[in-house]
Amino acid sequence: MNSKPVLWFVVPCYNEQEVLPLTAHEFLRKLKELITSDKIDDASRILFVNDGSKDRTWEIINSLASQDNHYSGISLSRNRGHQNALLAGLMEAKDQCDITISMDCDGQDDINAVDEMLSEYFSGSEIIYGVRNDRETDTFFKRWTAQIFYRLMNFLGAEVIYNHADFRLISSKVLQELANFQEVNIFLRGMIPLIGFKSSCLMYKRKVRAAGASHYPFTKMAAFAFDGITSLSNRPITFIACLGVLVSLFGFAGIIWAILAFFLGYNVTGWASMMCAVCFLGGIQLLSLGIIGEYVGKAYMETKQRPRYIVSERINQKGE
Ligand code: UDP
Ligand code: MG
Repeated sequence: MNSKPVLWFVVPCYNEQEVLPLTAHEFLRKLKELITSDKIDDASRILFVNDGSKDRTWEIINSLASQDNHYSGISLSRNRGHQNALLAGLMEAKDQCDITISMDCDGQDDINAVDEMLSEYFSGSEIIYGVRNDRETDTFFKRWTAQIFYRLMNFLGAEVIYNHADFRLISSKVLQELANFQEVNIFLRGMIPLIGFKSSCLMYKRKVRAAGASHYPFTKMAAFAFDGITSLSNRPITFIACLGVLVSLFGFAGIIWAILAFFLGYNVTGWASMMCAVCFLGGIQLLSLGIIGEYVGKAYMETKQRPRYIVSERINQKGE
């Protein structure tokens, strides 16, 4: 390793033509400031990952790269979602740098927190999680749903760090290990803590989006949470099994009751209770089948071992 580490910012971008011209300069200003203050090597880069954008994002990245060679980019062959785009960037970076810092391209992650992340790294941490210290900039609804998201995730066995999104520093040593996680259903927030190594959290204030709109409305966030849980943990299936035992006990009691009722001559009545039992059991069974089906589907996708992303173009990159 060099005496000064090589740092790469990894920034996934999807349809970000409004915000990219604003934030890219901020990223470069920070990178140059760190280079001139001798904290990082001049080979440090900002790597934009174009996640199959349908607007001018890739053209903007190209024109940035022609203005300054600290900017570089890869373009995925199609939209694969934030997690896959981020993984593509991290895997691209892992052999070319000593440290990566991943962040959103909308300026929400505080670029000035990077200095503190670096000092944490110099004092020995291999992973530094950016943790937002408040949610003042969020709507009440987003704040509330985010709380439920983290609580539910942990309850269902997917250990994630509270209020940490994907703003984090990871050393290349950790990335080499991440490369061994071959799964296609990726949920980095849950996978990185599984790798281990010395890590720490850094509080920062999350800002509002500089321009453009979020790609994560409530429905997408709920799908993301469900995906995260089923990718990381089998606990929902355990719950189903427990529920099965409980419902079976009730069912057994119900059978005894029905037999008794028959002998006592009450067998004409009981329509309501029968309907309740049928509806209840039908609901529980369908829900359980659905959850188990989700796992079967995930296992099916894993067996295919399809590539998790395909890089179609590179600029200012080794593979160019
Ligand atoms: N993003 C991506 N692919 C997608 C959706 C989003 O690469 O399919 C990027 C997006 O450009 C941004 C980051 O992921 O840099 C986070 O997205 P966004 O800001 O929309 O989410 P929010 O911060 O509102 O949760
Ligand atoms: Mg954002």
